[in-house]
Amino acid sequence: MKITTMLFVLYGRQAAAFSTRMARTAGVVSRPMATAVDGEATQHEESITKMPDMEDIVSLCKRRGIIFPSSEIYNGFAGFYDYGPLGAELKKNIKEAWWKNFVTQREDVVGVDSSIIHNPTTWKSSGHLDGFSDPMVDCKETKLRFRADQIFYAPVILEENGERVGYVCVQEGNDETMVKDAKKQAKALLKEKDMKGSKIEAFAFKEVVEATEEEMAEIPSPASGKPTLTMPRDFNLMFETRVGAAVDSDNIAYLRPETAQGIFINFKNVLGSSRQKIPFGIAQIGKAFRNEITPRNFIFRSREFEQMEVEYFIPPGDDVWPEFHQKWMDDSKDFLLSLGLREDLMGWDVHEGDGLAHYARACTDITFKFPFGEQELMGIAARGNYDLTQHTEGSGKTLDYFDDQTKEKYIPHCIEPSLGVDRLALAIICSAYAEDEIGGEKRNFLKFSPKIAPIKAVVLPLLKNKEALVSTARDIFEKLQQRYNVAWDATGAIGRRYRRADEVGVPFCITVDFETIEDDAGVTIRDRDSTEQIRVPLDEVIPYLSKAIDGY
Ligand code: ATP
Repeated sequence: MKITTMLFVLYGRQAAAFSTRMARTAGVVSRPMATAVDGEATQHEESITKMPDMEDIVSLCKRRGIIFPSSEIYNGFAGFYDYGPLGAELKKNIKEAWWKNFVTQREDVVGVDSSIIHNPTTWKSSGHLDGFSDPMVDCKETKLRFRADQIFYAPVILEENGERVGYVCVQEGNDETMVKDAKKQAKALLKEKDMKGSKIEAFAFKEVVEATEEEMAEIPSPASGKPTLTMPRDFNLMFETRVGAAVDSDNIAYLRPETAQGIFINFKNVLGSSRQKIPFGIAQIGKAFRNEITPRNFIFRSREFEQMEVEYFIPPGDDVWPEFHQKWMDDSKDFLLSLGLREDLMGWDVHEGDGLAHYARACTDITFKFPFGEQELMGIAARGNYDLTQHTEGSGKTLDYFDDQTKEKYIPHCIEPSLGVDRLALAIICSAYAEDEIGGEKRNFLKFSPKIAPIKAVVLPLLKNKEALVSTARDIFEKLQQRYNVAWDATGAIGRRYRRADEVGVPFCITVDFETIEDDAGVTIRDRDSTEQIRVPLDEVIPYLSKAIDGY
């Protein structure tokens, strides 16, 4: 659920648990090295997973066909992105893993796939029409628009006498970049005031939403460098559209800004058609649209994105929700780790006070240290019975539940874990970004977990002009294609082919060599991360991959 206030990251008991528990990896079977295929030095240095900067990520995504700017031939369209061949696979695998984990493998959660455009009254009842807004400020000179809670100002105060000589104003980033920008502006300000070299106090940043009118008259716009910002105003983030042929205000409808409301309005339908009893959950994956004021940081904040949400309905009572809330936090964390997210980059952010919606009992975010700073990856909220109550009032249909054990009737409360597919994809790419050395040579590769790797394996005949090698390899390739997205690569030296596979994060290289065809010795399977090679009999290739990819 939308919470627009800047929040403090509180590291509590849970953060300690995050950093001490080892990341789970999909069950790769580790076996001793056997005959290695020539072409790769065997000296392998432990890989280091380094934090790339955003430019590295954006350019890697473009080069490797993961993510492209949308409508690029028309110079792009801010806040929209297209997924290329590898990105489409990655996203599909993320969604499948989530659905499997939270729907298929649970008896108490069922799925829905609701329409994107609901009856507009839905948004009146949910509060989105009146309250789904972000504060924005405009720069009168450059006409650029900013989210007022994403730009920060600070007075520039002289150390010697506490005199305020002006203000600096910077866009949200990590502490280092914000201070660097602010120092640059302060230096220019001191020069302008003939105070070059004067020492200043450390910056005490505040969100621009907190600025008074008097302060605003002095705060420089991050775009023009002059005090040209308007006072903050609310801007509704819902995209409007029209339904039907007539062009009048009665036809206005909205592209959903979240998938959750499609779950609430189907509560009675699901309850009446499934055999679920409370506690139970309804899950949905789908597109959501928000006319973000400043879409930023690549796919982290875009205007069209996908969400994976569950509404988990529970009995009312202040002693009931904490246990369910904790369980969903634990399960969410375990799920993220199972996809290979780096535990050392994850944290918790507990919303308190102003950061909590008025109806919410609690909300805790799982955060991720992106290259541009630590930010919300997903939220897990205890939402009380706000939504079902609102829709009961708005629709006149009672969205309640009759407990046939206790003979009680009540409007259920709910826990809502909400996760963005695209934001998760970005966290996965950042976690996978790795480099190491093989035989003294630097290697850059993507350490995708086999479960979500876009390409699961590449099949390599040792030589492309030996018919027996090619036909055996082709046979393996076509069998694997029935189950997994696999690739074929028959050209170039084997070491070069390994490196090509590493660059796009293929976990396994399957090589067919002369021992395969002459000695019936099976194939070699090379593990991307350790570069270890093992010989696997032909009829064990699928079970081997299945164990490593699917876990069974
Ligand atoms: P933020 O404060 O970053 O705008 P939010 O609190 O508004 O996020 P929610 O409404 O709780 O986000 O949405 C749930 C999840 O959906 C977020 O945790 C995030 O993973 C994803 N999400 C929300 N907005 C966007 C967006 N504009 N682009 C990509 N993913 C998003």
